[in-house]
Amino acid sequence: RFISFEGPEGSGKSTQAARLAARLRARGVSTVLTHEPGGTELGREVRRWLLHQGAAMSPEAEFLLYSADRAEHVRTVLEPALAAGSFVICDRFVDSSYAYQGYGRGLDLAWLRSVSDGILRGVRPSLTFLLDLPPERGLARLAGRDRLEGESLTFHRRVREGYRSLAQSEPERFVVLDAELPEDELEARIAREVISRWPS
Ligand code: C5P
Repeated sequence: RFISFEGPEGSGKSTQAARLAARLRARGVSTVLTHEPGGTELGREVRRWLLHQGAAMSPEAEFLLYSADRAEHVRTVLEPALAAGSFVICDRFVDSSYAYQGYGRGLDLAWLRSVSDGILRGVRPSLTFLLDLPPERGLARLAGRDRLEGESLTFHRRVREGYRSLAQSEPERFVVLDAELPEDELEARIAREVISRWPS
């Protein structure tokens, strides 16, 4: 009962994660909506720190900080919620690290996976919605918003291709959606997918 949302900033994933949570709650289903980075106290500090440091930080340190946040998040938020039988909807999860620190910043994916395996302790999304969007469009949609990423277009292109490769390698887990579809249509498609996987 663990669902994650992935995609670039400006893809609307946070909106869709919130809408799905609202739909499930309206059906009387216990649902925890959370996000990374920042789903824990430590995560909020890490997010603030990264916001200040930005691209100046080494990619290894960046990955380990996101991982520290994730370790706390898994233990203090995700595991208890899943154990209680709730649906968990997470706005970004470990695939963000593979896409941004792996494909984007060029860290070795095998290293990222082995560190992550120790952190996740078997906690993995069974369904991941990737809201796919060309980087040019995502950045345009963000104009004027406070952003962590001052990165180049080529960086964002690598991230996008990374996400798409991840999705191709696990087609049963990933559902790739065109983030430029109207919000209501995206919401309906997402709801249909969730209902078909968890009827009743
Ligand atoms: O979309 P959201 O506000 O969650 O994005 C936060 C930013 O943090 C992303 O644009 C991305 O640049 C960055 N991030 C990252 N690596 C992660 C998670 C987030 O670079 N593992």
